[in-house]
Parts: sequence; C-alpha cells; structure tokens
Amino acid sequence: MQQDVINLLPDHVANQIAAGEVIQRPSSIVKELIENSIDAGATKIDLIIKDSGKTLVQVIDDGRGISNNDLSLAFQRHATSKINKAEDLFCLHTKGFRGEALASISAISHVHTISKSLNDPIGKSIKIAGSKIQSEDPVVSSVGTSFSVKNLFFNIPARRNFLKSDSVELKHIIEEFNRVSLAHPEISFSFHQNEKEIFDLKKTNLKKRISSVFGLKLIDFLVPVKEETPLVKISGFIVKPSGCRKSRGHQFFFVNNRYIKSPFLNHSVNSAFDGLLSKDYNPGYFISLKINPAKLDVNIHPTKTEIKFEDEQSLYAILRSSIKHSLGIFQVMPSIDFDRDQTMDPPYAYKEKTPSNPIISVDSSFNPFKSEKKSYSFESNSKNAKIEFESENIQNTIEGFESELNSKQIKVFQFFNKYLITALPSGLMVINQKRAHQRVIYEKLLSSLSVKSPNSQNLLFPYEITLQQSELMYLLENISIFQAMGFDFEIDENAKLIKIKSIPSLFDEKKIDVLFENLFSNDQEFEAFSKSDAVSKHLSKAFAIPNGKKLNIEEQQELLASLFMCKEKNLSPFNRPIIVNFDVSEIDKKFN
Ligand code: ADP
Ligand code: MG
Repeated sequence: MQQDVINLLPDHVANQIAAGEVIQRPSSIVKELIENSIDAGATKIDLIIKDSGKTLVQVIDDGRGISNNDLSLAFQRHATSKINKAEDLFCLHTKGFRGEALASISAISHVHTISKSLNDPIGKSIKIAGSKIQSEDPVVSSVGTSFSVKNLFFNIPARRNFLKSDSVELKHIIEEFNRVSLAHPEISFSFHQNEKEIFDLKKTNLKKRISSVFGLKLIDFLVPVKEETPLVKISGFIVKPSGCRKSRGHQFFFVNNRYIKSPFLNHSVNSAFDGLLSKDYNPGYFISLKINPAKLDVNIHPTKTEIKFEDEQSLYAILRSSIKHSLGIFQVMPSIDFDRDQTMDPPYAYKEKTPSNPIISVDSSFNPFKSEKKSYSFESNSKNAKIEFESENIQNTIEGFESELNSKQIKVFQFFNKYLITALPSGLMVINQKRAHQRVIYEKLLSSLSVKSPNSQNLLFPYEITLQQSELMYLLENISIFQAMGFDFEIDENAKLIKIKSIPSLFDEKKIDVLFENLFSNDQEFEAFSKSDAVSKHLSKAFAIPNGKKLNIEEQQELLASLFMCKEKNLSPFNRPIIVNFDVSEIDKKFN
C-alpha cells in the first residue's frame, strides 16, 4: 500500500534551495546588495571585499536605512517593501521586488547588518548565520546600512568547492560593479579588495563615468546617441569603429537604469555597424533605454539580466536607425540616408568630377590554368562527406609534392591552410598547425622562465593599449611572470594604459596589436598547475598562428622542427591532439 510521503521542507532548507537560484557566486551578492542600496536612495556606496568575496563582501550605503522593527523581517523570504500587490509588478521602479536576496544570502553565509533609518533615534545590529538569528542589539550609527557577508557557502561545501579561482571570481565582481556603476553615474562608488583601492568613482555624468571605468583613451572614441519616441527614450554612447575591439567588454544596455543582456538588441546594434568593422571586431556601446515599465516583463529571469519587451520589432528598428544616425552625423559613415538603395548612388566625391575614358588593362602574366580559382567538390566514400575547397589548394598540394620529390626528401607541405602533412617510413603524419604552434609557444615560454635573461626584443615604437580593470589587474598580478618571459611594460594605473616596450623574441613585432587583442578577448577557462603555467597557456592561445593562415615552406619547416623539439609533441597545452598518423596499411586497404 502507498504510504504518505510528502513533507513540507523546513524553512532553512527551502531557503538554501532558493538561494541556489539567486546566489551563484560572490558577484551575485555584490549585485544584490548594491541594488538594495540603490533602491534605498543611496548617493554613495562603498564595496569592500576580501579574497574575491570568498572571505568577505561588505556594502556600506548612505540610503534611507531599515527601521529597527523591519530589520529582522527583511531577512524573511518574500519580505519586500517594494511591492504590495500583483499589479505593482507592472509599474516597477525598483531593482528588487522579489524579497528573496537577503533571505537567500543569510541562508548560506554569516551576515552582520547594521542599519539606521531616519525615524529611529538609534540604529540596530543583527547577526544571522544559516538563516538563524544569532543576536540583535541597538547600536549607534549614522543613517544608512552596512551589510557584511562572511564565509559564503559555509554550510554547502559542494557549492564552495565549485567557486573558481580568486582571479576569476574577482573578474565577475568587477563586471557586476562596472554594470551597476555605469548604470548610475549620479551615485559615488568606491571599491576595495584586500585593502587595495580598485575604483574610486565620484558622482558624474555617463561619459566621464565610462572613462573612469574603462580608461581615458576611450573618451575620444565616444559618439553620443539620442532619440525620443513615444515607445522609448534612447541615450548614451557608441564607440567609433576605429575604437572598437575584438572583445565584447564594451557592450552595455541599460533598461530603466538596470543592466540587461539582450542578444536581440545587440543584433540591432551590429546591423547598424554593418560594413564598418573588420571581421572579429565587435561594436562598443553604452546605451540607456527608458521604457514604460508596463511594456516590460522583468520577471522572466531570477537574476533579472534578461528582459522581455512588448514591442520588440519597433524597438529594434528605432535603436538601429538612431545608431546609424549617430554614425552618420559624426561622419563615421559617409551617408545618413538609410532608406535609399546606396548601391545606386555615385560615390559622392565623384558628383563634381568630369568623367574620364575607361582604361583597359591586361595582365600579360595571367595563366588561366595556374591560378584559376574554382570550387571543387568531391565525395569521400567512407562518410559520404562533401568536401569543398579551392583549386589553389590542390595546386599547392601538387606543387608541394613536386618540390619535395625534386629534392628527393619528402619533408612537409600545408593542406587546407591548417594542416601540415609529412611522410613517414610507415605512412603519413597530419599535424594541426594551430595546436602545434600553441605547444611550441607554451614550451618556449615555460623554459624562458628558467633562464636568467630571456630572449627579448625592444619595440621600435612602444605600443600603447587601454585595458579594462580586470585586464589591468591580470597584468599587475602576473607582472613578474610576464617580465621573466621577456615582456617590458610601463603601466599607468589611473589612465588604465599600458605601454609595451619589449616582447619575447618569439613573437612577431608587426602583429603586436592583434596579439594583445586576442590575449584579452579570450576568456575561456582552462586548467592550470600554477600562475606561470596559466600565463603560458593564455599566451600560447592568443599568439598561436590561426587555422586558415597560409605558411610558406620555410615557416612550415620551422614549425615542424620546433614541434619535434618539444617535450610533448602529441598534445596541445589544452590536451587536444596535435598529430594524427595514417599507417600505409590503412591507405592500402582503401585501394582494395
Ligand atoms: P527586495 O530587494 O526584492 O525587496 P531583498 O531581500 O533584497 O528584497 O531586501 C528585502 C528588503 O530589505 C527590501 O525590500 C528593503 O526594504 C530592505 N533593504 C534591503 N537592503 C536595504 C538597504 N541597503 N537599505 C534600505 N533597505 C534595505
Ligand atoms: Mg533586493
């Protein structure tokens, strides 16, 4: 017989479960606490963290405070002062409304809060651990609230172990801090980690806030965007194409002063920039949208970074045309007339010119059999896979073979601009060029760390780049490793500017801009044994020759020779195979 099996979960267990949704990592606490301070009307917010928030997250504000009577209530689930009835959800003017954050945070950490409201003569302190109130005492305090969160996930070891390295967690915190501080330039913010000041942002306007968050250099590239329609009020800045980067670090949408992610709106901006950015570069934008809250549903995501708009198509079109307008007005783009088919227009400088007779030029060295580019396609028997490539590749292959045969050594040739192929006594060896190069760079960098003066080249002209705070901190944190590898930087922390004066001789000076773009646009996580291992891996990933890059025969031979000098030839630094062998007997079988 079926027994009764349903229990109601005790509150502290329910809170722990709910906490999982709201609080994923220290940066979630930073977000929730700062948002509460903003909702409380704070004009100044201080963030203090220790060990990337794993030991302490503290937020101090000068907002309206929590009354003595409300203080313990604020920690109960669904306790909120921000809405009373369901209809209020449709006219939200605050960041919080679920009444979940404080209940969640106090379920999984040790919280100490001190708060005083205007109307109470004295403040109150409360300590809570794992949802249980430990103490409540009157304290003397100024109006406002201080929240300390210690020992995050102390009662859920699995969650604690799941946290990433300090530098990754710090990066998440900086990201949250940037989002909220950019959404509210009218509020002063400070941020300290392990007693070191990371940001000190005074109340200002959006343009100046952007430059104090991302460095002075960016300000020259900012172009204002402004549009007012009955549906939406758009304001903010876009980054001129010449200032855009490969990383997406300069992409911010704020809807009613809240940072949101929207692939849909991002697409609209991308389409406005269409044709203005080279491949792999992303538009930069800091755009604030003001929309009637009744036309929004912020309820669809527990951490509220996603949003649903009522009239998406119109929003898309308005945003796109206002950005195109700014790009045009500020002469980033030649024409501001979007509706006309521009392919029909003569280039505008030609309007006043007198036409000249056309000239026919003939390339006398043209050989139709040698360089004709055609697409071939053939089907491989085994997998029925269609492979398409250009005749140039076949020509290379044949030429490669021929020259190898002529020199009576079959050494190496490149295939599809991504594999190197070489013959062995027992068959064929196919080498992935990108991974091979990653391995070579990785081992050379690691070994350069063990010599006294690594091979380094001075740049003729020092190369300057502006970095984001987390990038700057990454460099500062690993500066001794970079130096030991042969880099030399000058760092201006205030302007967030680095001047690169020398780089390891291993790298190509001419490509330095691409190299550093790649270094910072790549934030995939990987395993590393030590800091120097991590830096070497990171650099090998950023600086390796890409697939699709044509190598001349000397480069091919050099790469192969360097690979065979490596201690580990078969695996890339990220444990992916570098070499695949085809035994002659396998090839023989195919001809049966
Ligand atoms: P929500 O923000 O969704 O209302 P929270 O759990 O974050 O829920 O906060 C609960 C309540 O505690 C808030 O509604 C607010 O009344 C009060 N509160 C929290 N933080 C502050 C603060 N820094 N200053 C003033 N009141 C606060
Ligand atoms: Mg809240």
